Amino acid sequence: MRAAAGEKQIVVKSWDGTFVTHPRAHAKPTSIDDVVAIMRDPERYPAPVRARGSGHSPANCGEADGGTIVDMRGMDRILDVGEDTITAEGGALYIDLAKELERRGLQLHVNTEIGCLTIGSGACCATKDASMPGEHGQISAYVVGMKIVTPSGDVLEVTEDDPELLQAARSSYGLFGIVCEVTIRARPLQQLSVEHRTFRVAQFADLLPELIATDASLMFYLFPFVDRVSVEFRQYVGDARGPGAERPNRTTWKLRNFTWRTVAPGAARLAEACIPWRPARYQLLNWFDSSLHVALDRLLRSPVTLPPDQMIRYPDRAGFTGFTSSIWGFPEPVFGRALNEYCDFVRRYDRDRKWRANMLAVGYRVDHDTSSLLSYSYDGPVLTIDPVCTGTAGWVDFLDSFNGFCSDRGASPLLNQTRGVTREMARRAFGDRLDTLEAHRRRIDPADRVLSDFFRAVLPAQTPAGDVAGPVS
Ligand SMILES: Cc1cc2nc3c(=O)[nH]c(=O)nc-3n(C[C@H](O)[C@H](O)[C@H](O)COP(=O)(O)OP(=O)(O)OC[C@H]3O[C@@H](n4cnc5c(N)ncnc54)[C@H](O)[C@@H]3O)c2cc1C
Repeated sequence: MRAAAGEKQIVVKSWDGTFVTHPRAHAKPTSIDDVVAIMRDPERYPAPVRARGSGHSPANCGEADGGTIVDMRGMDRILDVGEDTITAEGGALYIDLAKELERRGLQLHVNTEIGCLTIGSGACCATKDASMPGEHGQISAYVVGMKIVTPSGDVLEVTEDDPELLQAARSSYGLFGIVCEVTIRARPLQQLSVEHRTFRVAQFADLLPELIATDASLMFYLFPFVDRVSVEFRQYVGDARGPGAERPNRTTWKLRNFTWRTVAPGAARLAEACIPWRPARYQLLNWFDSSLHVALDRLLRSPVTLPPDQMIRYPDRAGFTGFTSSIWGFPEPVFGRALNEYCDFVRRYDRDRKWRANMLAVGYRVDHDTSSLLSYSYDGPVLTIDPVCTGTAGWVDFLDSFNGFCSDRGASPLLNQTRGVTREMARRAFGDRLDTLEAHRRRIDPADRVLSDFFRAVLPAQTPAGDVAGPVS
C-alpha cells in the first residue's frame, strides 16, 4: 500500500480545481485488503474517510477536511466478463469497461458522455444520460452487485438477493463505505443511429409530447440567448455483430466529443480572456452558438455508429478547456413550461445582474426509475436542465438563484452533480426516502466514520440524542 499520513498539509483538488479539500491522510490502496486496513486504523486514517474516484463531481461531495481521502485509481482492474455482466474494481474507468466489452461484442446499457468517471462512483452516485427506449438513463440501475468495505472494515456484499439494500446502496454516495468491486449488466453491442434537429424553444416545448413518443432517446443542447434548442435523437438499429451489420461511422462521435470537450469551452475561455467589453464578448458567443446549432444539424448525423464511441476520456487535469455544470431533473409534465421560464429567467438574470453562463445548457430525458432510493426520476420521467460554464466569477451566485428556481418547480437535484443543495431542497425532492437512507446509514456507520460535512448538511438533521429529526421545513 502506498500511503501518506502526517502533519504536513495535504491538498486534494477536484478535476477542474473548483473544490479543494485538506485531509490529514491521503491513502492510495491497490487492493480491497488495503481498504479494509484503512477503515480499521482510525488513528492513522481519521474520519471522515471519503473515497475519491476521478474527482469529476461538480459538487463538493468529495470533501474530507481533517479526515482521509482514499484515492481509488490504483484499484482499476477488470476482474471478470460474463455473458451479460462485467465486474471491475471500484477505481476502474467506465470507458475502460466499455472498451473491454466492445472487444467482446458487448456494451454497457448507459453510455454517458463522460468516460472517465470511476465505476465505484457510478454505482453509488447519481449519473445521467438520455434513456434509450425501454431503458434507464442512470448507470446504477444496471449495477447488480457491489463489494463495499464498511466503516468497521468488514466487507459487505450487496446483490440482487437483497433488493432493498441494493436500492439504498445505489445511492449511498460512499455513506455505507468504500465500493471496491462492482458488477454491472451488459448487453450485445448495438448499432446506433444519431441525428440532430433544431427548434425554437417554445416550439420544442410544444412538440415535446410528440418527440417523446418517437422511438428515440432525447438529449438537447439549449441556447437560450439565441432562442434555439438542438435535439439529439438516438436509436438502436440492430446488432453490431449481426450478419447484415453495416460498417459503423467512427468519426461522428469524435467530432461531437472534440467540439464538446475542446472547441466549446475553448471558445468561451478565449472570449472571456480577449474581449473585455461585455456586449461584444457575448455577441461573439451568440454568433458561436448560432454556428454550433447549424453544425450540429448538418454534421452530427449518421445511420450507423457505435455506442461506446460516445464516451470522452477527459485529461487528468482540466486545464484551459475545463468546464463545470450543475443539474436538476424536472418532472416531465411541468418541463415544457419550466423550460420557457428558464429562458426568461437567464435573460432576466443577464439584464439585471449583468452575468450569464458563457456556455450553453444541456438536458436529458431520463425515464422513470426507482432502482435507487434517491433516484431523481423516482416519481416519473424527468427532463433535466444543466447550465454549463467555465466557472467565471458569478457562477456560484447564479446557481443559488437557479437552485431556488428549480426547487420551486418540483425539480430534483443529483447530490454529486448539483452544487449548493440545501437540506430543505433535498427534503422537498426526496421526501421520506432520505429517512430510509439515513436509517441504513446509521446502522452501517453508527460512529459517522465516513460521514463528511457535505452529506451531514443534506441528510436529515440529527437531534442531540442521535435520533433523526423530521422534515426541516
Ligand atoms: C467534464 C465533465 C463531464 C461530465 N459528464 C457527465 C455525464 O455525461 N454524465 C454524468 O452522469 N455525469 C457527468 N459528469 C459528472 C460526473 O460523472 C459525476 O459527478 C461522477 O460521480 C464523477 O465520478 P468520479 O469517479 O469522478 O467520482 P468523484 O467525483 O471522485 O466522487 C464522487 C462521490 O462519490 C464518492 N466516491 C467515489 N468513488 C467511490 C467509491 N469507490 N466508493 C464509495 N464512494 C465513492 C466520493 O467520495 C464523492 O462523494 C461530468 C463531469 C465533468 C467534470
